Amino acid sequence: MKKVRIVFPKNANFFTVATTLDRELSEGIIFHEYGKNIFFDEKYIYIEGILSVEENFLLDFVQSRFREKGLPEPEIRFIGIDAYLRDEPMCLCTNRKVVLISIDYITLGSPFLCMMCRRRVKTNQISFPVPDLYDWQKLFARIEEIYINSSLYAGWAKNELANIKSKLNQRAISLAMLIDKHNHEEIYYELPQELLCPRTKCPNCGATFTEIAGNRICKNCHILCRDNF
Ligand SMILES: [Zn+2]
Ligand SMILES: [Zn+2]
Repeated sequence: MKKVRIVFPKNANFFTVATTLDRELSEGIIFHEYGKNIFFDEKYIYIEGILSVEENFLLDFVQSRFREKGLPEPEIRFIGIDAYLRDEPMCLCTNRKVVLISIDYITLGSPFLCMMCRRRVKTNQISFPVPDLYDWQKLFARIEEIYINSSLYAGWAKNELANIKSKLNQRAISLAMLIDKHNHEEIYYELPQELLCPRTKCPNCGATFTEIAGNRICKNCHILCRDNF
């Protein structure tokens, strides 16, 4: 799995071609639909995505689009999925337990945290089903956005976040269990902060929580509640 970033100077010519290219990359087969992102700063336009084709295919595709318009080609950088985190210290613990968190769909950062040091765990150290994970992250991001921005559906969205039996939370639990099965680390899903956990018992199955470093975990359901919300 390779993440790519295409960088364009921000001016009128490039803006048109960049937005067209963005649409083509999304509708086509070049980028996986999940994880694609376009953003801007003062000087540049960036399109990022996870490649679903060989690098050469992307290079040919992009170059031909720019040649047609007589524009210089954009810069294309192939970056690892954790590349933006290069300066962030990553977890180096051994025998760690891992927490699956709901953020970072947009940035494509690692959604795995070490339970002990709360640093990220590199994605290449955990084996996980990529489409399932990104589908769930995307769903989570959309529901959270509805909760924040929509007066009409905010109640529905809040229930998805705050109710342990919601489809969103149950999907995350299944995902954590699945990832747990394929790794020697134990994997737990960190419940959204909207979900107010009971003090001692798992909200999903009623079993008594195990306490580890300020975390309450249920080993049956692979869920984790944190104390310091
Ligand atoms: Zn750690
Ligand atoms: Zn439980």
